[in-house]
Parts: sequence; structure tokens; C-alpha cells
Amino acid sequence: MIRFENVSVTYEGAAEPACRHVDFEVPEGELVLLVGPSGVGKSTVLGAVSGLVPHFTGGTLRGRVTVAGRDTRTHKPRELADVVGTVGQDPLAHFVTDTVEDELAYGMESLGLAPDVMRRRVEETLDLLGLADLRDRPIATLSGGQRQRVAIGSVLTPHPRVLVLDEPTSALDPAAAEEVLAVLQRLVHDLGTTVLMAEHRLERVVQYADRVVLLPSPGAAPVVGTPAEVMVS
Ligand code: ADP
Ligand code: ADP
Repeated sequence: MIRFENVSVTYEGAAEPACRHVDFEVPEGELVLLVGPSGVGKSTVLGAVSGLVPHFTGGTLRGRVTVAGRDTRTHKPRELADVVGTVGQDPLAHFVTDTVEDELAYGMESLGLAPDVMRRRVEETLDLLGLADLRDRPIATLSGGQRQRVAIGSVLTPHPRVLVLDEPTSALDPAAAEEVLAVLQRLVHDLGTTVLMAEHRLERVVQYADRVVLLPSPGAAPVVGTPAEVMVS
């Protein structure tokens, strides 16, 4: 579902590539963790999946990244919205509307869907994420875990086949983190969504993972395997 073929990314003015020799595949319907120390290129790899790298960041991407068969370098992030949904580290930075319901609807606006389809998808997503009671609430009044679920919901309404998340639990207490991880697990198991998630607090999330992609140090090729295989190496 996601395929990296010998990818390197070099930002403008940088002496060294932000990542190099990145070569891995994520099969459909798996939850995959992208782990490694800070600065090793995790956000860069996620950005290459959603097309933010290099379309919004500049710099040069060598090699090839495809998501559901689409080359992310020749498709703008907007043209990938029905394929890949992206949630950044800071859910507040993500929001463009006021209420939970409006936020879930917003992501579908450029897709040309009929109004009744959009309404149905908002209802489905409210139920899936346990947000139905909060639908009219201003996002600013929600807790961190609730906001993170709204951020995820807003990229789910286009029904992406791939969801990419950058440390989605890093700002959350353990209970709120569990809520978010349970949602991701439901997406994978019930809807067959493919999830790629960067995370540095491995112990919190590893039990949810089918596979781990470890970036060991800047510029080094990733190590890919089951959680047990990668933890041993
Ligand atoms: P991680 O997510 O693992 O912390 P990043 O992908 O954010 O790693 O960063 C990898 C390297 O690329 C770092 O050296 C970082 O400073 C650099 N970098 C990240 N984003 C940019 C950018 N937009 N422009 C220039 N350099 C960047
Ligand atoms: P549409 O919105 O395309 O008119 P439905 O709302 O009936 O059709 O949804 C079609 C199917 O998509 C349903 O079987 C539903 O379970 C499934 N679905 C719901 N949410 C998602 C999602 N986030 N990603 C992928 N499929 C989803």
C-alpha cells in the first residue's frame, strides 16, 4: 500500500540528506510504527507519503514513493486526500473550523460528494471515534485526547486508505493515548485502513503494531520487521 524505493530527501541548503536509502513496503491493512531518535528523519518520511515533502517543504526527493499506486511526487497533497490522510503532531495547528461537526465535514469539501453522502460520512465518523455527544462543541473547549480524535476524524471522512500520524499521543496522558490508539486499532481491524505512525515512546504503542520500521541513525537505512525482530536488533 505504501512503497519506498531507495528514497533520499535533501532539504535546501542542508549539507546532508534528512533521510537516505529508505526502502520499505507497508502492506494494506497493517499498523506500522516508524521509530528512531529525534532528528533521524521520521517526519520527513511521513511527509514523503502525504506529499508534503517536497511539495510544501521544498528540497529534493530522489527515488520513488507510491501510495496505493500513486507517485506522491507527481500528485499534490490535495490530489491524495482520498488516498492518504495526515495528522500532524499538534492537533490545534490542524483545525480550520469551529465545531467538531464542521471540522469533520471540512475535509470532504473538495471531493465533490453529494450533501447526503457527506452527512452520512460525518455521522459514521462521529460514531466510529466516539464523538457523537461532542458534535456541536467548539474544538477549543475539548481535552487533548478529544482534539486528537477530531483531528483524526477530519482526515477520515474522505475515506483514505492510508492514515499517516506524527506522534499522535505525544501530548496526551496515558488514558487519552489509549483512547486514540484504540481508535487506530479499530480502523485497521474493522475498515482495513493502513496506518503508518511515527512514535518515540515505543513501549506505549508497540503492542498495537504489526510491523516496525526503525531509523537507527541519520542517513542509515531502515531496519524493518515485526516488533520482536526489530527490538532484538
Ligand atoms: P524526526 O521526525 O525523526 O525528528 P525530521 O524528519 O523532522 O526528523 O528531521 C530530519 C532532519 O531534517 C533534521 O536534521 C531536521 O533538522 C531536518 N529538517 C526537517 N524538516 C526540515 C525542513 N523543512 N527544512 C530543512 N531541514 C529540515
Ligand atoms: P459513501 O460514503 O461512499 O456513500 P458509505 O457511507 O455507506 O458510502 O460508506 C461506504 C463504506 O465505507 C461502508 O461500508 C463503511 O463501513 C465504510 N467506511 C466508513 N468509514 C470509513 C473510513 N474511514 N475509511 C474507509 N471506509 C470507511
